[in-house]
Amino acid sequence: MTHSDSITLSLDLKASELVFPLENFIRYGFAKITGQHEAQIFTATYRPKTAVCPVCGVMKEARKVRAYSTSEVLLTPSGHRPRVLELTKAKYDCADCGGTFTPTPYFVVPRANISSSVKAAILLDFKVKMSMRDVARRYFVSPAFCWKILDQIPPKQRFRHLQKSSVLMNSKPLKMTTMVYADGLTHDILDILESRKHADLISYFLNFPRSERLKVKTIVMDMNASYPALLAIFPNAQLVIDGFHVIQQLSRAFNQLRVKEMKELKKLKGDNGKAYRKLSNTGDSCSSGTARSIIKTVSNSRFSGVNGGRRAEVIDALLSYSQKLQEAYMVYQNALDTFSNKQAEDFFEVIETLPESLPDAFKKSCRYLLKHKSAIRRGILSPYSNGPLGGKNNLCKLIKCIAFGFGRFDHLRKQILLQQILSKAN
Ligand SMILES: [Zn+2]
Repeated sequence: MTHSDSITLSLDLKASELVFPLENFIRYGFAKITGQHEAQIFTATYRPKTAVCPVCGVMKEARKVRAYSTSEVLLTPSGHRPRVLELTKAKYDCADCGGTFTPTPYFVVPRANISSSVKAAILLDFKVKMSMRDVARRYFVSPAFCWKILDQIPPKQRFRHLQKSSVLMNSKPLKMTTMVYADGLTHDILDILESRKHADLISYFLNFPRSERLKVKTIVMDMNASYPALLAIFPNAQLVIDGFHVIQQLSRAFNQLRVKEMKELKKLKGDNGKAYRKLSNTGDSCSSGTARSIIKTVSNSRFSGVNGGRRAEVIDALLSYSQKLQEAYMVYQNALDTFSNKQAEDFFEVIETLPESLPDAFKKSCRYLLKHKSAIRRGILSPYSNGPLGGKNNLCKLIKCIAFGFGRFDHLRKQILLQQILSKAN
């Protein structure tokens, strides 16, 4: 290996006919392109033996050099120090067409001064959950440059394939208006839509050919009102409401009642008031503190099996103060039990036979589930779950959070999709 080839290799470049001087091919200094950062500056000359004239396309050896021009090229950094190649390029005369041209090595686009290896490194960094600002700082480029790279790649929805048997949909992963949908089997996010308005959803999915839409057999979703209309464009699909959302609806109803009851309890003077304060001041080693949060954790972690004796005690104490809460708790627990045992009919029976004494708001929230009876029944029995998509939602939120928000929805969408593609690649 020649002297120049070894240096080329150490710069993460392939053999590319760069010629480095035998001495002083590297120095530390400030380059125009890296500004205030002291850089390792390499000096090299590029004078390829055979060059193709871009105008007439003639390939020739030993052309006459007309002049030399020098420019800086940013390379991938070494540790925390930027590396710059001070590249002197030969300018050739073309005897065939009379023009002049300056060949550039493979890692630089003509007239660019950031090498393609930096671009590739930035692209690969989309795999890591990192904000664009940090990626830019790592490679000594501007964030705008990174966004430009992101803009150049096209993870556009091609509207060709939808051959999956099931589609999971989830609203509000990022903000109130967004919707994400994923493959039911692999749980890969297929796309993120900025709007989940009825008309927008319809026009979006109509982009898929009918033959693809016919293949969709199951659509798993939450209880969003605009979704049932989608069935019109997926004629073979069945709507399934995911169990998670059913439980969420119930636990929300129960929690609202609990908060209301606790407020009532707080207002009471005398012993009950004291009891409330006692309960809400109860310290608990396994939870963050107040009775309120304990009960919340318990009601939320119903399926996770966390049920310390201390918590059960607090719940019992709390329930004993309010008849309504006790009744609602029974309904809630029965519903959860039947649901987790996949007893669809029993579940609906619990909801249909609510005790009259329960507050109207609670009854209303529970009865709302009856509107989607058949979809919920399928949800209880079907193997599909929106749970994995919930995990993806968290990933989306994390990416958004790390970046301190995104100026453009398009960028966020691309970054999430790219992240998914790249992390799957290895
Ligand atoms: Zn020519």
